[in-house]
Amino acid sequence: MKIERIETYPLFYPLKQPYGDANGLKKYRTCFLFRIITASGYEGWGEAIDWLPTLELGFKERIIPYLLGKKASDRQTIVNVISKWHKRIAVGISMALTEIISQHANLSICELWGGNLHDHIPVYASFQSYTAHDDWMAKSVSMAERELLNGFRRFKVKIGGRPLTEDQQHIEKLQHRIGNNISLILDANQSYDQSTAKAWEKKFKEWSNMLWFEEPMPLHDLSEYKLLRTALSVPVSGGENLKSVKDFHSLLSAGAIDIIQPDINHHESIDDYRTTLLIARALGFRVSSHTFDGGLSRLYTLFAHACLPAWSKMEGEELEPVEWDVMENPLTEVIPIEPANGYVKIPTGTGLGIELDMDLLHRFRWDGSVYR
Ligand code: MG
Repeated sequence: MKIERIETYPLFYPLKQPYGDANGLKKYRTCFLFRIITASGYEGWGEAIDWLPTLELGFKERIIPYLLGKKASDRQTIVNVISKWHKRIAVGISMALTEIISQHANLSICELWGGNLHDHIPVYASFQSYTAHDDWMAKSVSMAERELLNGFRRFKVKIGGRPLTEDQQHIEKLQHRIGNNISLILDANQSYDQSTAKAWEKKFKEWSNMLWFEEPMPLHDLSEYKLLRTALSVPVSGGENLKSVKDFHSLLSAGAIDIIQPDINHHESIDDYRTTLLIARALGFRVSSHTFDGGLSRLYTLFAHACLPAWSKMEGEELEPVEWDVMENPLTEVIPIEPANGYVKIPTGTGLGIELDMDLLHRFRWDGSVYR
């Protein structure tokens, strides 16, 4: 079980038309995958997020020399050490070492975790609504039309990056087009203050298809969230940037939120991320994981949700939907799974249960040039 080799796959894709949210426009998408191979021939894939030059140099100078010769079954010790250097690499290492153990045991990841409780996971189409062009609103509505045809029944769109009246005009147009049969999430990426966030309540009262209101305000002041939560008729969600079980426990125990949104890439290990999910369940809160970076972390997110007990006894509401990025990003296609009618079927084979698309890994390999 000794680690013998580590290969890195930094991927880069420049976007034809930048898109974004209230935080600004993205000009490119990146992904950093790596493969850990043991002397006995078992392999495990990991994914990490950061600037690609940082990750490449970090692996070459520190991570690979540290990992070589270590026992792949010593996941906790290895991840604890690496998390002190770089938490987002540590979670990727925990993915790869988990897969190696599942390969060795001839089990799927879900079986290793006790077996999945759900075969299919609901997903919502996640849009980045803004572009730099005047026709951004029309473009957003046409993207929604495209995903209606692709079978999605839950959408998340961005607000908070334009004046309130312009954003409300956008959502009115979208509502008119998609109708009440589509559930809607509005994500403000922490843009508003209390009074601006409350200004949406008038609209929420008119609409019956709101799933939740995501991060309306900065998340550091939980008392503000508590006030807002009592004033709104739709659930409030948040937490995609929080980093640990402790952070989420504070959020939940303050009564500040209805739905937590942990992101596996922001925790220091899969174990820590899964503990966050289970704590939400134990305390009776909903959890809908945030996953926007890469296909592998999204797959692990789906595995974790597949092993999570239902949150509700209401038929058709047993599981919260997980995010599914529908924007232009061929890098996620490295993991060849696709939703059908708004649900993803959980792969069942040994390890990940799927093979990564090696052609795509080579086609989109970052050329080493500096980007900003
Ligand atoms: Mg968000």
